[in-house]
Amino acid sequence: AMAMAMPTRRVLLEERKSRVPLGVKGRKQMRILVTGGAGFVGSHLVDRLMERGDSVIVVDNFFTGRKENLLHHLGNPNFELIRHDVVEPILLEVDQIYHLACPASPVHYKFNPTNVVGTLNMLGLAKRVGARFLISSTSEVYGDPLQHPQAETYWGNVNPIGVRSCYDEGKRTAETLAMDYHRGAGIEVRIARIFNTYGPRMCLDDGRVVSNFVAQALRKDPLTVYGDGKQTRSFQYVSDLVEGLMRLMEGDHVGPFNLGNPGEFTMLELAQVVQETIDPNAKIEFRPNTEDDPHKRKPDISKAKELLGWQPSVSLREGLPLMVSDFRQRLFGDSKLTAG
Ligand code: NAD
Ligand code: UDP
Ligand code: UDP
Repeated sequence: AMAMAMPTRRVLLEERKSRVPLGVKGRKQMRILVTGGAGFVGSHLVDRLMERGDSVIVVDNFFTGRKENLLHHLGNPNFELIRHDVVEPILLEVDQIYHLACPASPVHYKFNPTNVVGTLNMLGLAKRVGARFLISSTSEVYGDPLQHPQAETYWGNVNPIGVRSCYDEGKRTAETLAMDYHRGAGIEVRIARIFNTYGPRMCLDDGRVVSNFVAQALRKDPLTVYGDGKQTRSFQYVSDLVEGLMRLMEGDHVGPFNLGNPGEFTMLELAQVVQETIDPNAKIEFRPNTEDDPHKRKPDISKAKELLGWQPSVSLREGLPLMVSDFRQRLFGDSKLTAG
């Protein structure tokens, strides 16, 4: 008997072109894989893709993601949720891959092969089926930057052996792999360098500063400011990021593109905004800072503005209250509970 041959890339591409089911807006429906889609950013992205009428497959091992973030899609025939660790190979047929799976929060920083092996597997999948591949890299590739604000042309200042290296260097490696598959195998890749993002569905206790401050203020605990609190970050609301990711995926440019909000705040200023939003009497407590903490960070988004026609539209003072009501609901099960 003849051995069953694996479908070639060309056959799959032809097959893909011949499928023309229509999405809600009348355009061709796409099959989109979102790895890490049960997480904070991923679940908001899935909402937008589903709304657009596409068919979405989420692959997630629920390391930091939660099924609750996707409950509203379960049972929809356009939606599929697969519990799977991307460190293991997987066979799927899709047109686009948003690769977001990553142990993303500081409390989970430690050796984890997801960024390297997981990215390699998803690139292998993209190669086999001819899918377009978007990698969610990070502003951390700039390390403790010597250029301010950071443009995509800056190569970064990263400590290769520090406590946060597995994250920074893991993402740098993931970008390298993506570019190698792009040049070597002709994969259409898109590279997003995401700056600090906040919003509803963020992990409650993952140690990031916005979720920490908001949860602390709501629980009437002191806000923990690390170091002198003069280090800066730029905080982007999640809907702005999702819009940027989708424009990048649909556009013609590989990138990398910075996706972030250029509004820059010191951690003390952020604590003040949280006080104004939740509880003016919230106390501030200083704690020793972690090693290798970047002193400042602010995206230069000229490239995304020019080539993607994208820029954020939600300010910190507008976005924070939206996150606060979600956190209130999750912490106390009551969205009307107010401070004081
Ligand atoms: P998140 O932790 O909420 O989401 C990550 C998701 O990946 C989770 O659902 C988790 O369960 C899943 N995951 C982790 N390891 C996996 C594995 N091996 N196999 C399958 N699934 C796995 O974090 P997020 O903030 O939504 O981050 C999404 C992406 O955006 C990440 O790649 C992150 O590095 C990047 N990013 C986020 C920010 C930010 O501020 N939120 C900033 C820069 C970059
Ligand atoms: N891979 C996967 N799904 C696929 C195709 C590949 O998970 O549909 C994995 C595969 O197991 C391998 C990795 O992706 O570990 C890289 O695949 P590639 O074909 O580029 O490399 P090779 O297998 O030739 O080393
Ligand atoms: N940070 C803080 N208090 C906290 C958590 C973090 O002052 O409870 C500081 C942290 O030292 C860093 C900044 O907030 O300077 C942003 O930290 P986060 O982990 O949110 O993001 P990243 O460092 O990855 O940008």
